[in-house]
Amino acid sequence: MIGGGQLARMTHQAAIPLGQSLRVLAESDSDPAALVARDVELGKHTDLDALRAFAKSCDVITFDHEHVPQEHLHALVADGVKVFPGPDALVHAQDKLVMRARLAELGAPVPPFSAVLETADVLRFGARHGWPCVLKAVRGGYDGRGVWMLNTPQSAQRVVPELLAAGTPLMVEQCVPMRRELSALVARSPFGQGAAWPLVETVQSDGICVEVLAPAPDAPVEEAQELALKIAGALGVVGLLAVELFDTAHGLVVNELAMRPHNSGHWTIEGARTSQFEQHLRAVLDYPLGATDLAAPAVVMANVLGAADVPEMGPDERLHHLFARFPDAHVHLYGKAERPGRKIGHVTLLGERMDDVRQRARLAAHWLSDGVWLDGYEIHGGQQ
Ligand code: ADP
Repeated sequence: MIGGGQLARMTHQAAIPLGQSLRVLAESDSDPAALVARDVELGKHTDLDALRAFAKSCDVITFDHEHVPQEHLHALVADGVKVFPGPDALVHAQDKLVMRARLAELGAPVPPFSAVLETADVLRFGARHGWPCVLKAVRGGYDGRGVWMLNTPQSAQRVVPELLAAGTPLMVEQCVPMRRELSALVARSPFGQGAAWPLVETVQSDGICVEVLAPAPDAPVEEAQELALKIAGALGVVGLLAVELFDTAHGLVVNELAMRPHNSGHWTIEGARTSQFEQHLRAVLDYPLGATDLAAPAVVMANVLGAADVPEMGPDERLHHLFARFPDAHVHLYGKAERPGRKIGHVTLLGERMDDVRQRARLAAHWLSDGVWLDGYEIHGGQQ
């Protein structure tokens, strides 16, 4: 796996019972996966020589992120390396404009969009489709960085020239009036087998996903699953595909694509029969895919984000108190330093009722982040 972040760390964990040990190309020996995997090589994903040397010892190459340049991916394929997903699929997760154009061509629901070469392109788009509109960096954004809400022509005139001058490739799209955000996670093998997990709701705050509810309450499950499988097949995806969706009054609209294990699928580790990490391995190794059913009626994953002020109580003691209160909480800490807003781990809870499970997951994640119980629970106060 190229990239040594938390996705590689959790993929390594899933590789172990399959009799494998994930080989990782990490940038630093303190990357989350490099801390736990035995088979780590250090090198940059932008260095073709490093990629080539790494690929020599791998049966198949896959990814923890989408930042390997297209030309390097094509060079690896030309060398005869199995790259899954391949560059022609992966480009749709790397380049938002390519993705929008291709999905529109496939007849998938996307908002009106346009390339931006000059500020006038945005002004014309806004005049035609209305304000606000959403300006996006075509490449390289994540967790809402690279997305700017433009409320007026004046805000476009303020924001766009500066970004263009800095060399940021831009696009603009309609601001979609959405009720909520959903994610359809599927896998596809080279053999062409597909598998879809139950549709989930992703709850966002400041552009970052904070909670995932599985299954998404009252959602158009089959429509979303069929759409995601259709996209996976049409683009020739091998491995996982997350289709981020907006739920609107007029149906589903695709936001973006990710072709790797995805934050909206972390709940599957304990909450589904097969985790997304194992499924990704099965898919890229061309094994038959695993069952995707829920392991409980309600599953909630909440991200643990670094607090604005790192709590005085250390992570170990927070974990201790968490387990004292919620013995059934499933915790995954990524071995990352605590920095404000950074995803440092996640916690998953399973149960019978969504509202109850969601409340417990939210309390647990906030406790692990901030060392504070949002409901005033007293850690030394005994029963609650
Ligand atoms: P990133 O690649 O940084 O995750 P996204 O394209 O997923 O960026 O956008 C981040 C967030 O911005 C989305 O989760 C959504 O809340 C909001 N957003 C993005 N595009 C639109 C849009 N067209 N209309 C309304 N909100 C949007």
